[in-house]
Amino acid sequence: MKVKGSCHCGQVTYEAEIDPEKVSLCNCTDCQMLTGSAFRLSVPAPAATYRLLTGRPKAYVKTADSGAKRRHSFCPNCGTPVSACADTDAPPFYSLRIGCLEQKRELPPKRRIWCKSALEWAQDVSKVPGIPGQ
Ligand SMILES: [Zn+2]
Ligand SMILES: [Zn+2]
Repeated sequence: MKVKGSCHCGQVTYEAEIDPEKVSLCNCTDCQMLTGSAFRLSVPAPAATYRLLTGRPKAYVKTADSGAKRRHSFCPNCGTPVSACADTDAPPFYSLRIGCLEQKRELPPKRRIWCKSALEWAQDVSKVPGIPGQ
């Protein structure tokens, strides 16, 4: 499936081919902090299909407890997380952030990962009252 993505301010835009069956919901503490939210949704795009159309993301390299280095790219202007990949200039794939993709409504998660660190209240918000009209 072809997807198009953009950061919040519109400087960084990109496109890629993804498999909708590979969308994950990650509960790890890195995802919680890097999104400022309870979890993150992402999908891998093979590097050969990933094309940056406009802008130049800035990168931040995080070393995991395991020692693995992960390169997190974000818009230098608005800070929107764009993608993550292995810390090399030729990564096998880019992990795209679902919230930035035009096709996000068609990309529900197919699995939850790092459930050990999940915030329990975030696993079902359907009973939290919604504000009508928004
Ligand atoms: Zn931006
Ligand atoms: Zn994570």
